[in-house]
Amino acid sequence: MAVSDHVDFPTFMEGVKKRNPGQDEFVQAVQEVAEDIFDFIADKEEYHAQQILRRMAEPDRVVSFRVCWEDDNGHIRVQRGWRVQNNNAIGPYKGGIRFHPSVTESVLKFLAFEQTFKNALTGLPMGGGKGGSNFNPKGKSVREIMRFCQSFMTELYRHIGADVDVPAGDIGVGGREIGFMFGQYKRITNQFTGVLTGKGIEWGGSLIRPEATGYGAVYFLANMLAVKDQDLVGKRAVISGSGNVATHAAEKIVQLGGKVLTLSDSGGFIHDPDGITQEKIDWVKAHKTHRRGRIEDYAGEFKGATFTPGKTPWGVPCDVALPCATQNELLGKDAKTLVKNGCIAVSEGANMPTDLDGVHVFKHAKILYAPGKAANAGGVAVSGLEMSQNSERRSWSESELQQMLKDIMAGIHERCLTYGEQGGGYVDYVKGANIAGFKKVADAMLAFGV
Ligand code: GLU
Repeated sequence: MAVSDHVDFPTFMEGVKKRNPGQDEFVQAVQEVAEDIFDFIADKEEYHAQQILRRMAEPDRVVSFRVCWEDDNGHIRVQRGWRVQNNNAIGPYKGGIRFHPSVTESVLKFLAFEQTFKNALTGLPMGGGKGGSNFNPKGKSVREIMRFCQSFMTELYRHIGADVDVPAGDIGVGGREIGFMFGQYKRITNQFTGVLTGKGIEWGGSLIRPEATGYGAVYFLANMLAVKDQDLVGKRAVISGSGNVATHAAEKIVQLGGKVLTLSDSGGFIHDPDGITQEKIDWVKAHKTHRRGRIEDYAGEFKGATFTPGKTPWGVPCDVALPCATQNELLGKDAKTLVKNGCIAVSEGANMPTDLDGVHVFKHAKILYAPGKAANAGGVAVSGLEMSQNSERRSWSESELQQMLKDIMAGIHERCLTYGEQGGGYVDYVKGANIAGFKKVADAMLAFGV
């Protein structure tokens, strides 16, 4: 029998920092979870004895590989690619692939760690992983993107499989890139399996997968508001980002009677006091995704809207906020501004968009605050449903899937309440999500032994 090996929280975090030098994002994600878990496991000796949190904060493996591709001018370009397989205690590794110049091993390790908790919260049997590259798709031709995706998969294919590790999209990877990667996997292995999710409808994809992350984040928000006997009708929403997650979150807010005031990209944010209607959202979708344009152009297209360069939208007064762009885009000072301006709820469509200071501000102010691992789990949940449909070799209807997504988000909300209710009507969703996700994975790890 293992000897009990209790360490306290500061000693634990010191160890995490020492073992992961320079990996600030990863350390941040572990700290945010560990702050809650230490209380929860204080009297649970077997978790300590089996070093469960310590093991979860150590990825099962980090695969790192070189990706060579030829650009349109015939130059050979070299990039780094990774797949972080964090934990497969409750199912095959599952999580997206990100192509963005900001991608590092630290970023992918934090994302894979978060994904482990998120996937557990969905109630579906999926472990946690994440992959990607520092390749920058911006300004690349479609043929260059295709060649990069093929080279990336030529390296990745040996590490994944429908029952091993199932990647999907993330920032910089949408349906087109999944198509290029799936095509290459199929060419190399001669197997047509559910090895990737986010596939096209014609070749094994699931309906509502593109909408799922953004819609899910708004369903979660509606669930939180319902605890306070409120809904989205007439609520002013500030949203960051203008990609797949942000535009679909905006769409669902509008459908549920709210008013969307902002969207953003890395260049700045637009503010439309008249509200961003469905018609305007459709324009953004076409302009950003198909024409690869900038959000700045919105202000030229729609009267009354303004563009603020180089800033995030958190200073615009609102009732609800949805950070849907990227990690650490909402800092402590932004959180204070939101609270001061009367924002009552925050639902994260992105992964870890709020830094640790910001998380503490929201917790202290006791507003409704849903961390990404709970609020944006709708995307990976529908990926899980895509895996089920692939295994069964069938596809479900849109209305069936819409209902399943709603039920899954309500289930995640329930799980957060189980461990997050603090009395006096306050729900700590961060704590609820962390403990519920941890417990499921931890209990599976205990069952397997060391
Ligand atoms: N990248 C998405 C996320 O952060 C989806 C992952 C997936 O569908 O596997 O959850």
